[in-house]
Amino acid sequence: MSEISDQLHEIQNRVRSACRKAGRDGEAARLVAVSKTFPVEALLEAVAAGQEAFGESRLQEAEPKIEALPGTLEWHFIGRLQRNKVRRILPLFQFIHAIDSRKIADYTNEVAEDLGLYPKVFLQVNQAGEESKGGFTEAELREQLEAMLRLSHVEIIGLMTIPPAVEDPELSRPWFRELRKLRDELEKQFSIQLPCLSMGMSGDFEIAVEEGATHVRVGSAIFGKRAYRVAGELA
Ligand SMILES: *Cc1c(COP(=O)(O)O)cnc(C)c1O
Repeated sequence: MSEISDQLHEIQNRVRSACRKAGRDGEAARLVAVSKTFPVEALLEAVAAGQEAFGESRLQEAEPKIEALPGTLEWHFIGRLQRNKVRRILPLFQFIHAIDSRKIADYTNEVAEDLGLYPKVFLQVNQAGEESKGGFTEAELREQLEAMLRLSHVEIIGLMTIPPAVEDPELSRPWFRELRKLRDELEKQFSIQLPCLSMGMSGDFEIAVEEGATHVRVGSAIFGKRAYRVAGELA
């Protein structure tokens, strides 16, 4: 067994255990393997070990990988969505995790309509109001969600967060709990379903699952340390 498949199986088990610990179904949280910076060979090992969902954050890097891998995989675009890339991103990725403004939501809808696609999207919430991160404030969401729900070609499935980086993963718990609470409140306010919460990374995915994550985005705990930083993004 390769190191990647060992680590993948370990993370899959830990996700399941965290689900059960929280009284949830063992399959209630989907593991999105974040493969940015890692080569096709690494992804192939993960595929051989049963992994189906992958997350990438840069279009130029993802395009050749997606091309080289089986067409049955599920692709999640987790990076910041740039307007000039949307037209190439939508045909490749079924899930978009970081819709971070009303403008980009509207534009994504426009392009999706043009292409006859219906991407599933998360709205990113900038919970701590960090300058370095995109996302809606809570107030903006309450104000703008109704209009975005009317978009014909993007399916808003839930909320996403990247809380401030911390050493102790327990410190992320309040942010995860707050995102879930916000989701619950929005569901009530607009009489809608927002079933998904994209939250939790290598350092804190178990806590995110305990707090209701349906999608955890885990990279380095599966593939190892990344050799370089992606400019303008998380390490
Ligand atoms: C890189 C990245 C991850 C994965 O981070 P790890 O700490 O390696 O698990 C998750 N989410 C986003 C948005 C990322 O950019």
